Amino acid sequence: MKKHNFYAGPAILPSIVLEQAAEGIKDFANMGLSILEISHRSKPFEAVMDEVQALTRELMGLGDEYAVLLLSGGASSQFYMVPMNLLNESEKACYVNTGVWSTGAIKEAKLFGQIDVLASSETDHFNHIPKNYQVPSDASYLHITSNNTIYGSQYHWWPQTQIPLVCDMSSDILSRQLDFSKFSLIYAGAQKNMGAAGVTLVIVKKSMLGRVSRKMPSMLDYRSHLEKGSMYNTPPVFPIFVTLLTLRWIKQTGLSTLEARNKKKSESLYAEIDRNSCFYGTVQKEDRSWMNVVFRAHKTELESAFLDLCKEAGCVGLSGHRSVGGFRASLYNALEQDSVDVLIAVMQEFEKKYA
Ligand SMILES: *Cc1c(COP(=O)(O)O)cnc(C)c1O
Repeated sequence: MKKHNFYAGPAILPSIVLEQAAEGIKDFANMGLSILEISHRSKPFEAVMDEVQALTRELMGLGDEYAVLLLSGGASSQFYMVPMNLLNESEKACYVNTGVWSTGAIKEAKLFGQIDVLASSETDHFNHIPKNYQVPSDASYLHITSNNTIYGSQYHWWPQTQIPLVCDMSSDILSRQLDFSKFSLIYAGAQKNMGAAGVTLVIVKKSMLGRVSRKMPSMLDYRSHLEKGSMYNTPPVFPIFVTLLTLRWIKQTGLSTLEARNKKKSESLYAEIDRNSCFYGTVQKEDRSWMNVVFRAHKTELESAFLDLCKEAGCVGLSGHRSVGGFRASLYNALEQDSVDVLIAVMQEFEKKYA
């Protein structure tokens, strides 16, 4: 039976990407060797690195003023690398708290300077994106999280600000067309929407670098990685290869096509949540995420019965994050409308049985 993969991350990848990745493990670039057993300094791998960077620039419309880095350590390492590289101890940075990941970013940033949390939806269980706040003009940057993977909220607008905008886009990068040039730094772990766990994309305006006076280990200094083309040390070779395959698929499909599909998938699922008498959505409508649809059952004692029905239909990965419970359907780029339709049918079956 076909599996419908709603996992939040690591998450669904296009089947063509999985096939090509498997082929690369067996015989990479007709070398008669696996991608797992060649030097990262070999020509064929250097070509992979070059193409990943070029495709990222092309898909995101980035000019030469940006550096494109492929790092390891997950998005969580960017929680400290960002302030370490951009914030002097005597300066302040602003953060908006929209969930678990923002909270983590704030906690780490406090190690490096003064942190102003301009707005937070924590007291409302992170059910919306805060809107009315002033961004001071004397801060080093404003940090936001574009899509809140755990709570299912997403920015559908961007804060007005004169100061550099920094964004954790881990769970919605390349899911929609955006004016990426609004941002001074973007980071994203690959495992939600652009590949396998192990590589993190960091896009940073070169003019942001070299402003801080602190000493830092070379591995944590963006400049080391920029100077060496993300090969300061052995990069995560295989995840970078999977990202290349995913980026090729995104280019071939087209970002605007993916955006339209993502919008339609999420709209159809939200429509069912709103219609179905057994379920309700937890996020304010205007801030609902197109990527992670979070919902609950009115009768919490029936949660496991719903998950059982899902499983019977081949729908997996629908449990909410362990910190919030309920359900979460992640609808990343590679998930098809087909799978959403199967989930909707299960919800309707559940309603007939239990309403
Ligand atoms: C998953 C996620 C993270 C954490 O990513 P790791 O790669 O596990 O460190 C951070 N931010 C957001 C928005 C995420 O979805």
